[in-house]
Amino acid sequence: MCRHLAYLGPAMPLANLVLTPPHSLLRQSWAPADMRGGGTVNADGYGVGWYPTPGADPVRHRSARPLWTDTSFASWAGAVSSGAVLAAVRSATVGMPVTETASAPFADGRWLFSHNGRVTGWPHSLAALAGALPVTDLMTLDAATDSALLWAVLRNRLRAGEPAAAAVADLVRTVAAAAPDSRLNLLLTDGTSIVATTWWHSLSVRHTGSSVIVASEPSDERDWQPVPDRHLVVATPSTLDTTPLEDLR
Ligand code: GLN
Repeated sequence: MCRHLAYLGPAMPLANLVLTPPHSLLRQSWAPADMRGGGTVNADGYGVGWYPTPGADPVRHRSARPLWTDTSFASWAGAVSSGAVLAAVRSATVGMPVTETASAPFADGRWLFSHNGRVTGWPHSLAALAGALPVTDLMTLDAATDSALLWAVLRNRLRAGEPAAAAVADLVRTVAAAAPDSRLNLLLTDGTSIVATTWWHSLSVRHTGSSVIVASEPSDERDWQPVPDRHLVVATPSTLDTTPLEDLR
């Protein structure tokens, strides 16, 4: 299963988040530490989304290549800085395509989104949920993957004005009910706050009071806190709330 991270805080080069830490996403792409039986390496593409200035919509770079093979990204990742970043490396679920557009982050307006996991019984288990979407949303899905469909459903709720944390929590519960045993670690940001879930996958948080990073695996030996399974995390650089998803019914 994929590995992902989101960062909010003082601007820093993308390379410092994605490439240079001892257990960076780059290292997690070929030597992840805690995949919980969901795959071995994350070689089916990667993506980085960042906010060029506070308040601006994010920009994105995505690829179907393994992160470790992309020397072009490595050449400029140290020259671009941002204070709000979401990045992911992908391990495609069996049966799903390997294409640039299947790599997270998925994007819409000010939002960036990533899914680490898989939906069991795909695609039949989510047919009813998909059927409630506007037909044009289905015609323009980023890719024929569970993650792209989850994003289309969440995007629809965000566009309707649902608060982000409630929309994410409800999506996890709805999908878990329709497709039991799914793995649903979600990550959403608008560049000012991060909403994340744990649902049968690893996640850790490092909060300093002026910055926060939420990641599938700690990238260094500093003071990371593991997030227990089935929890919702809502974080800004100055706040951190972790709530059991079951209590949010
Ligand atoms: N199931 C999703 C995909 O194939 C996410 C993959 C993952 O977390 N490994 O794109």
